[in-house]
Amino acid sequence: VMMNFARIGVGIQGLGQCELATQNAIRYARDRKQGKSESGSELIVDHPDVRRMLLHMKAITEGARVLAYETATYVDIARNHPDPAVREEAQDWVELGTPLTKSFCTDSGFDLASMALQVYGGHGYVQEHGIEQIVRDAKIFCIYEGTNGIQALDLVRRKLTLREGRLPSRFISAVRGELESSEDFGFIGSPLSTALEALEHATTEIQKLGLQGATDTAFGSADYLRAFSLTWLGYNWLRMAKAASKQPQSLMAQAKLATAKYFASRVLTSVPSLCANATIPAASLMALPAEAL
Ligand SMILES: Cc1cc2nc3c(=O)[nH]c(=O)nc-3n(C[C@H](O)[C@H](O)[C@H](O)COP(=O)(O)OP(=O)(O)OC[C@H]3O[C@@H](n4cnc5c(N)ncnc54)[C@H](O)[C@@H]3O)c2cc1C
Repeated sequence: VMMNFARIGVGIQGLGQCELATQNAIRYARDRKQGKSESGSELIVDHPDVRRMLLHMKAITEGARVLAYETATYVDIARNHPDPAVREEAQDWVELGTPLTKSFCTDSGFDLASMALQVYGGHGYVQEHGIEQIVRDAKIFCIYEGTNGIQALDLVRRKLTLREGRLPSRFISAVRGELESSEDFGFIGSPLSTALEALEHATTEIQKLGLQGATDTAFGSADYLRAFSLTWLGYNWLRMAKAASKQPQSLMAQAKLATAKYFASRVLTSVPSLCANATIPAASLMALPAEAL
């Protein structure tokens, strides 16, 4: 109980680094002039490669925020709901969401801090703007309260087998239910269905392999954890896109839809290959003597 709480807390620290990196990078890119884009603008925010990095940072930060808050909300439901069946279901979500929130949000904190530094160019590398400090600070969150490697093992070894393996089934059914009422959102619904199918397949394979395939699934556990997290973010972006489409005049809603499109077409699509990695035999790689590495 204590570790669930602490790990969600560290995940939220990682999320804080994501937000800090993203807000700083956007603010700087709107102000910094360098070169000229096709449109004639001299601001770096109008260079396609910089725009790509900013959209990537928003897509991960805003999607991860829903992952963390949803997991934390289930903590409250699991503790306080009057119906024991609802409390039990919420507890399943907490146990599944905890290693994902801890690892994904903290890995992203470090990745996005590095991306923010890239947006700043040389001005990020030197100390003046404090961006290199975010990179240094963000790494500890991947390490304490159980390294992210240990979170991935917790997911494949414990969470997939706990209570007859029903934790991932709850997630898969929820996403499937959401997809059924999302016909108008094929731009994300379609890659999300593909991702979900790959995730379900990998999950069943890992559950079937059990102890027999323990080395292979441990080798692929970080990829599996990332695939699961990205699928959860896809579920979040589908729900955010649906909410945003109700307010077409709002600039925030327009940004949500554009960011959902970025995530659907350029991030969510990596899930099937991550899932393939999750169960690939690793015996030949483990057979290499340590001295040969
Ligand atoms: C700044 C800071 C503050 C800290 N604060 C606290 C604190 O307040 N309270 C506290 O209790 N601890 C604290 N820690 C300790 C922290 O929790 C540990 O550093 C962390 O759990 C990792 O343990 P380790 O450093 O011994 O690394 P190791 O366990 O040696 O890990 C090294 C690498 O091996 C991997 N690894 C280890 N075992 C396995 C395995 N079985 N399977 C696969 N991979 C494995 C790890 O994932 C990692 O990549 C703090 C550490 C730091 C740096």
